[in-house]
Amino acid sequence: MRILVISDIHANLTAFETVLKDCRGEWDFVWCLGDVVGYGPDPNECVERLQELPMLCLAGNHDWAALERLDVRTFNPDARRAAEWTRDTLTPENTRFLEDLPVTFVIGEYTLVHASPREPIWEYILEPAIAAINFLHFDTPYCLVGHTHQPVIYSEVNGSGEARTDAPRYFNWHALNGNRQIINPGSIGQPRDQNPDAAYAILDLERGLFEHRRIPYDIRDVQGRMREYRLPERLVTRLEHGV
Ligand SMILES: [Zn+2]
Repeated sequence: MRILVISDIHANLTAFETVLKDCRGEWDFVWCLGDVVGYGPDPNECVERLQELPMLCLAGNHDWAALERLDVRTFNPDARRAAEWTRDTLTPENTRFLEDLPVTFVIGEYTLVHASPREPIWEYILEPAIAAINFLHFDTPYCLVGHTHQPVIYSEVNGSGEARTDAPRYFNWHALNGNRQIINPGSIGQPRDQNPDAAYAILDLERGLFEHRRIPYDIRDVQGRMREYRLPERLVTRLEHGV
């Protein structure tokens, strides 16, 4: 069985559709690691498109912000404005979908969370020291996370209490060889690693292989809708820089 692993769609339907088209016929099921909405102009469309797929989906901090489950005053002003616009734009049905999303999911050898196993909604795993601590907070060999919008692989260095960082090698299979790993597929809708292309991954469960991928999409298309809806200009321009 092959899994399409995605995260941080962030209401960017153009990027989401481009990814789905790029990997059509290559997967059986979708694991979505949260932040379906927030920042982008297409929250309803992305929730509805996701629900058409065979999938499981986790809650992210921006999904919770749209539900007023967390205080958006902790967000920067642009993210806050986008969160309030998202909340006002979501239909009651799509809001209910977000309300029902779980925070963690354990399936076979994999633990799935949005942010980190220690703090599933909040913590950013941006460095190996934070990854090392998080290896103590899940029991399976592998953990899949999103939230930072940066594709990466952290591997536990046995017995040392440390973690090693590996940059993704796009379109190359990475072996899940039993060494414990925390893997981030990157973000579909708002990459933040100086690469504006949409990020996603394919996981082959039987063969224990994980493949990071990047695909360009029509950024101007989504930017046009963001300007039409008067979403903050800084959120519009950052898409073309991948920051
Ligand atoms: Zn996010």
